[in-house]
Amino acid sequence: MDRLRKMFALVADDNGATTSAARIQQHILGSGIQLDDFRLRTTMERLRFLGESPISFEAFVALVSDELMMVNRTFNRELVIPDWQEFCHDIELVFNRIADDCSGNNANYIPILRDADPNKWGVALCSVDGQRLEIGDVDTYHSIQSVSKPITYAFAIEQEGTDFVHQFVGVEPSGRPFNSLELLPDSRPFNPCVNAGAIMTAGVVASSRTEQSAREITEEIMKLWAALSGDLAPVRFSEETMLSERDTADNNFAIAYLLKGGRGLPRGVDLHKMLDLYLSCCSIEMTASLLSVAAATLANGGVCPITGQQALSTEAVKKSLSVMQAAGMYDNAGVFTLEVGLPAKSGVSGAVLTVVPNLMGFATFSPRLDSYGNSVRGVEFCRQLVELFTFHIYDSLSGGRSGCKRDPRASQHNRKQRDLSDLRWAVSHGDRYALKVRDLLLECMIAITLADGEIEEPEIIIMAETYTEIMGHQPQQGELQAMAESRQSEIEAGGSSGPFEQLLQRLSLEQVQLDDNVRELILEAAFRVACADGIIEPEEDHQLRGIANALGISEGVLELEIARFQRQHPSRGAAATD
Ligand code: GLN
Repeated sequence: MDRLRKMFALVADDNGATTSAARIQQHILGSGIQLDDFRLRTTMERLRFLGESPISFEAFVALVSDELMMVNRTFNRELVIPDWQEFCHDIELVFNRIADDCSGNNANYIPILRDADPNKWGVALCSVDGQRLEIGDVDTYHSIQSVSKPITYAFAIEQEGTDFVHQFVGVEPSGRPFNSLELLPDSRPFNPCVNAGAIMTAGVVASSRTEQSAREITEEIMKLWAALSGDLAPVRFSEETMLSERDTADNNFAIAYLLKGGRGLPRGVDLHKMLDLYLSCCSIEMTASLLSVAAATLANGGVCPITGQQALSTEAVKKSLSVMQAAGMYDNAGVFTLEVGLPAKSGVSGAVLTVVPNLMGFATFSPRLDSYGNSVRGVEFCRQLVELFTFHIYDSLSGGRSGCKRDPRASQHNRKQRDLSDLRWAVSHGDRYALKVRDLLLECMIAITLADGEIEEPEIIIMAETYTEIMGHQPQQGELQAMAESRQSEIEAGGSSGPFEQLLQRLSLEQVQLDDNVRELILEAAFRVACADGIIEPEEDHQLRGIANALGISEGVLELEIARFQRQHPSRGAAATD
């Protein structure tokens, strides 16, 4: 069928002859692309014009012809995260889990932060293809505080050149609290992400703009923020924050004088102007939604995914991300890099901006802070996300053994398909590894079938179906029944360790040789049999957990799988697992 016909079929009404604006919009939204996306502007304008009238195939072709490449990618889910809906569900799960955490306290040095609603909790995500997800309080404006620092740094290196900037600011992690007065042995601040470094960076920027006031320079930096966040909504300035910051800036003044008395300030810039610029950058107000798009722009090398505009040079982005990686989470940056392994920047307002290079950016907002000044929920969200997904920069080192963490990237999806077809082909030719996989797969399915001690006809049928679907050919006649009966008689015979325990032992031994794809296949087969009757019985749940554990698959990943099952069978409500 012609590609256009296929696209039309994806949105056609039951009669197949027409579609509607609502159906088209719904289908686009399902991909994660928003209806105001610049790449679909013409199509959307034409759709609005058509209103509710039915759209024939010919009208559809005319509608999408100008933006065919983008419509095609969106319709066929050929975006960086193809299965966007599933990904969103997983993220919601993490979001909800963290919502209960009320530990930590608001920053209390200025009233506007002290009085902010501590219960606010929002997560916004944007992929490098411009797919967006927003949950909770993503439209609450808050000062960006230290989240401003890596962007002011990027602005400085673009305007003044890297060499000049680094004559005044270092790039070493400080291991000290963000407001520490300590400097490098050569009297430069450690890096642009601690106050001393950010104040000096502001000094570098202010020093070449003698004609402009600190506020005017801030407005230029705000324009950069607006470009980074795709002009989605206004980037604002909080006068109230600025006034309070000035009133409470003794420590920042101390740092500024120390810098002035040490190596001196760049081009003899006025100390007050330098501090004013620093404090007003902290007083810029944005939302998690805006910050997530800015994070995605960084993930995309400086090109904003939702406008296509190059907001920052890729070189400046690379440097900014490196500094974030080393020092973005202050004196917790080392632990954060170890556990999360992503460049991120937090601010005392409760914002955290995180970048998954080449994939997406996300921003969280929750005002309660830990002892480092990082948002408790924000950090926890990053941690849990990386436990479930292969987003840690070094997850790519896993040699295909990450404990079956999810990877929503399109490239991974294709790799899985390729591996599966290799496996099918290899089984049919007697490959040793492939046969072992097949064997383990069968044993696990049978174990689940026997969880209730009975072999039922429908279970054998489901097992055969699952096997056929995964292995690409039918099992031999009577093979499953015979295997199941033999395991059943072993169970009845009793003995020190039953067949299930033996299977777990075998899985634990063999799993070192199994890559993620294969482990996933085995778990999937067991899972499908457990779900065969639409409900996961407690005994089946127990066995599934045993199999996952023996395969080295984390509890969290299994939870995602179970949640997915429950979504697919809403009528069953919660399965019998709880
Ligand atoms: N305005 C704050 C300060 O200078 C910003 C610090 C932060 O977000 N960590 O102290």
